[in-house]
Amino acid sequence: IDLSVQRDIDKLEATFPSCKGKYRLIKRIGEGTFSTVYKAEDIQYDQYDNSWDIDAAESQWRPPPLRNSSHSRPNTSHKPKFVAIKKIYVTSSPARILNELELLHDLRDSHSVCPLITAFRQADQVLAILPYFRHQDFRKYYPQMSVYDMRVYFRSLFTALAAVHEKGIIHRDIKPTNFLYDPDKKRGVLVDFGLAEREGVETKPCLCHEDRQVRKQRLQQSVAFSSAQAGPQPGYPVNDTRPSRRANRAGTRGFRAPEVLFKCTEQTTKIDVWSAGVILLTILCKRFPFFNSADDIEAMIEIATIYGSKRMKQAGQIHGCVFDTNIPTIGERGFSFEKIMLWSTCRSDGGKDGKSNTLTEEEKGAIEFLHRCMDLDPTKRISAKEALVHEFLQMNDT
Ligand code: ADP
Ligand code: MG
Repeated sequence: IDLSVQRDIDKLEATFPSCKGKYRLIKRIGEGTFSTVYKAEDIQYDQYDNSWDIDAAESQWRPPPLRNSSHSRPNTSHKPKFVAIKKIYVTSSPARILNELELLHDLRDSHSVCPLITAFRQADQVLAILPYFRHQDFRKYYPQMSVYDMRVYFRSLFTALAAVHEKGIIHRDIKPTNFLYDPDKKRGVLVDFGLAEREGVETKPCLCHEDRQVRKQRLQQSVAFSSAQAGPQPGYPVNDTRPSRRANRAGTRGFRAPEVLFKCTEQTTKIDVWSAGVILLTILCKRFPFFNSADDIEAMIEIATIYGSKRMKQAGQIHGCVFDTNIPTIGERGFSFEKIMLWSTCRSDGGKDGKSNTLTEEEKGAIEFLHRCMDLDPTKRISAKEALVHEFLQMNDT
């Protein structure tokens, strides 16, 4: 154990003397933007009780229902042996921390969502205790994944998403580090509800929720504007006096849905489906991160390069935005996912090095599913529930 980790652990135990007799900290397992996560052993663990054991109840694992009192005082008879202790940084706002804990509590019985065991607070320090879920680093396993492995992975991810969305909750930060996947067990759990929110709360109407006819009329009068020109250059409105659009943009660069970039004010659970699509695109193209933008404008440019300016314009119009660009690398028609996948896996050279330069039937199936997840129009994009009955996620054929 390295010194800085030991110092961390000592500090944590000094702040939370109540934890000292309960958990033995083992190591630091994660360091995110909003927290540090430690693996710890539950000292009061009851070895004969496996109701929390994710490995024990293979396919049908669910956390035991939380009793009212067990939220603040853990029930010693329902415990996993290893836990993840998430120390939320004191710089997080109390409202944010409460939001995360509340949503986790709401999702306690949801399949494939990592449940909250309990939480501690000491002044401005908050610890969330979660069952430890063994997983592998995405970077390690994604280059080797077969199409079948992808189907298993996405079946698990979409099961979790469907459960979250069923409760009207948007996760907002779907990406590989927030879906803890164990390729051996072929199971994953969704973590990190730090940015999650309830759908339809505090939203202002957006054109995307109106019917097409109304949308067309409104758009003609619309002054809403969004530009994909990189920085102030000729034609960029430097002294733009129009009111700026405000919308929730929380999430991670490269995984943000187009409607988030267009600052849609009525974002839905479909933004998570887009992000899941970006993970699939990453695995198919064997490039991580696939999108590598520094800001939202660059992110728009990346998406526009693939989809082409014509479809990007239409995507903007859905939310009352005018998309315009003079960037020469953005063509009108863009590129197909098939082409991008062949290029990025070096299979577009006419099959010279023995690799086939056409996609297999199952790869085509994956691309078809990808199209449904990464539809620029959130109203047409597949939902998590629909995805679970999509052919790509049916496992009974093998
Ligand atoms: P942050 O908000 O800082 O991103 P996360 O909840 O995503 O915090 O946790 C950060 C990392 O800690 C995860 O990417 C994962 O590696 C690890 N982690 C979090 N929860 C668990 C858990 N229940 N079991 C095992 N590892 C976990
Ligand atoms: Mg995270």
